[in-house]
Amino acid sequence: MSSTQYENDELVFLEEETGQQSEDEVLHSWNVLVVDDDEEIHSVTKLALSDLIVADRRLEFHHAYSGKEALEFIRKHGPSIAIILLDVVMETDDAGLIVAKKMREELGLVEPRIILRTGQPGYAPEESVIKQYDINDYKTKTELTRSKLVTTIIASIRSYQQILTINQSRIGLEKIIASSANLFEEHSVKGFCEGVVTQISSLVGLDAGGVVCARAGSVLDKDDDGVYVLGAAGEFASYINQKLENLHNDRIVYYVTQCLKQRQHVYTPDFTVLYLNSSGYEAAVYLQLSHEISEVHKQLIEVFLSSISVGYENVNLFHQLRNAAFRDWLTKLPNRNEFINMLDAIRPVEAVRAKTVLVLIDINHFSDVNDGLGQDAGNLLLLAVTERLEETFADRVKMGRIGADVFGLLGTESDLQPDLVTKLFMSPFKAGDHLLPVNITLGYAAITEDKCTGINRLKQANIALNRAKKNPTSNFEFYAPEMEEKTTWRLDMIRQLRNDFADRRLQVWYQPQVDLVTEKIVGMEALLRWPTSDGGFISPGVFVPLAEYSGLILDIGAWVLDEACKHLSILASKGFSSLRVAVNISMPQFRDLQFVEMVKDSVNRHKIEPAALELEITESVVMDEPQIVIDSLTELKKFGVKIAIDDFGTGFSSMNYLQKLPLDRLKVDRSFIHEVEPGSQAFIAETIVTLGKKLGLQTIAEGVEKREQASFMLKLGCDEAQGFMYAKPMPFEDLVNFLHGQK
Ligand code: C2E
Ligand code: MG
Ligand code: MG
Repeated sequence: MSSTQYENDELVFLEEETGQQSEDEVLHSWNVLVVDDDEEIHSVTKLALSDLIVADRRLEFHHAYSGKEALEFIRKHGPSIAIILLDVVMETDDAGLIVAKKMREELGLVEPRIILRTGQPGYAPEESVIKQYDINDYKTKTELTRSKLVTTIIASIRSYQQILTINQSRIGLEKIIASSANLFEEHSVKGFCEGVVTQISSLVGLDAGGVVCARAGSVLDKDDDGVYVLGAAGEFASYINQKLENLHNDRIVYYVTQCLKQRQHVYTPDFTVLYLNSSGYEAAVYLQLSHEISEVHKQLIEVFLSSISVGYENVNLFHQLRNAAFRDWLTKLPNRNEFINMLDAIRPVEAVRAKTVLVLIDINHFSDVNDGLGQDAGNLLLLAVTERLEETFADRVKMGRIGADVFGLLGTESDLQPDLVTKLFMSPFKAGDHLLPVNITLGYAAITEDKCTGINRLKQANIALNRAKKNPTSNFEFYAPEMEEKTTWRLDMIRQLRNDFADRRLQVWYQPQVDLVTEKIVGMEALLRWPTSDGGFISPGVFVPLAEYSGLILDIGAWVLDEACKHLSILASKGFSSLRVAVNISMPQFRDLQFVEMVKDSVNRHKIEPAALELEITESVVMDEPQIVIDSLTELKKFGVKIAIDDFGTGFSSMNYLQKLPLDRLKVDRSFIHEVEPGSQAFIAETIVTLGKKLGLQTIAEGVEKREQASFMLKLGCDEAQGFMYAKPMPFEDLVNFLHGQK
């Protein structure tokens, strides 16, 4: 039974006082309730016992004159009553016995000692009653001389004291069992540790503040050896997860450190530091106290600690498991799963109000670091990036590592503006001995009010990211729903393209290229055609990017090249020699390690002159991954193949790369040819032709539709031309006829 069910517990003294205090310091007294209908008995008893001090406490007398009155008092004051001197015969013959019975049975009150007194021996209760109601003594009033009364009182107070102590331990143990059970349900280290502090405080009946600290390790996802606050209650609650030093309390820092070092409890009048250890999982529990912990409580705490230490170990193991499942092992950031959980936990209305955005940061060409400098350098780079992100955004932005080289950030629009994030990556990162520059691409998805799952939000940002990767003019994109429609459309198209390619439905058409002076055909460009069921064609401008995106371009590109070589050798066999065929090459083809061999193989198999094959690459391909492109082209150039830069003038060629590339020809983009009318951008065409001459390269004008365009380009000194004015792209059979017609 807990004392709290009594209305007034001001009389409750749960502290077990020892004999060290002087009389003046006696704070408490023993409550003695005298129950008798005879007024005189009250005053006699009081007089007889007035000077008595038992275990340093005086007696304090309370009076009741009937069984009913006594019960009222007992109900009110409960276990704080030490002794009840109870008359048997009052309003009824057994009024006193009824008080005892009700008190023990109905109120369940076990602590107060009962001394029965009766006027006549004949009213003595039976032995069974004395046992049943736990009555300490039975005396007739005449028997109770002062000295007898005193000894009875002293003996009874002793037994009251013992009962109190036992009871208190029992309450304590019940609390231990209950609080341990609570703690076992707690699976987070933080929750568990908060619980420990609160439960110990309630165990010792104090409203103590406190902290639980442990040395960093796997549990804390921290790499240093510092001591951290795992959980806290009361005034320390705000220090959770911080370093112990941050508490700015030298005493706590010192004693917690001592406790962990010496592996033992520290008890002082003002505070207590408890040592917890289970299979090596150690912690120190610091409790700020308002007064010293009693011996009984110390014992209780020990029992409590040993019963929860297994729980502490469990919660740590659980935490480690959770870490393994939800933390990225390298950066210790939340991993993809956990990041999705974080996105799931978003409250859309609040997130929208706070203008929350999700950003994916993709490190461009991260694989080059791994391949070129080794995985360790790659890992160090990722750690350096993590560190910079954490330093910059601290707690304002939530982070995760979503993929090998992709980080997810969740924060406000203003914190995560594209230019701010990009700026963060301006200076290089230190990865071991290397100082590595890093370029990034960003995919944004604003958090919307609709109930979108975390995985879908991630998908949205990913769609934006993929968009951004394809955008040569900007390194970021914001997600828009139309993109998603496009995605489904794209996936359909890719599936269809794959099927049609496998069914050999794709065709290679040819567009003649002429010498601008003689207007004789010097070669042709191979151009892909994808026929539709209604007799039309899907533009390569549409499906080539899809083929690139899906990787299909490797097979398709190889096939185009082989077709072109095959057709060129057929043309030679028909007497059309000294023609050249130009084939467009996409970036993914350069990344393919077999590419160079594949080209050589086609040339050799169809027995064409390597110089009769020209590869067209766009400027953006050159700029994307210069080294791979330069290496492959250099080797092919050695083999004898010609190289042209397609759509020249629309990309971002740096002169530096242009000079490094083994080029033969610049193809002036058709947008500059269309602008040859006076006052237009014609000067660009002129610049390109001049540049070509300076670099010792041939030039060819693309998309020549009108005579004046041809004349203009001729005047500039451009060598060749290709365009509808001469011929549109056509199937191979038509080309053969076309060539025959030109003879
Ligand atoms: P491109 O390499 O610049 O090809 C020239 C494009 O200009 C062709 O469009 C051609 O039909 C068009 N064209 C030619 N003369 C004129 C003209 O006088 N006026 C106008 N307005 N246009 C003209 P097409 O065939 O639609 O090809 C578009 C793009 O698709 C090509 O641009 C090329 O980048 C890509 N492509 C085509 N075939 C392949 C291929 O086999 N592999 C790869 N990787 N890309 C290809
Ligand atoms: Mg081309
Ligand atoms: Mg072109």
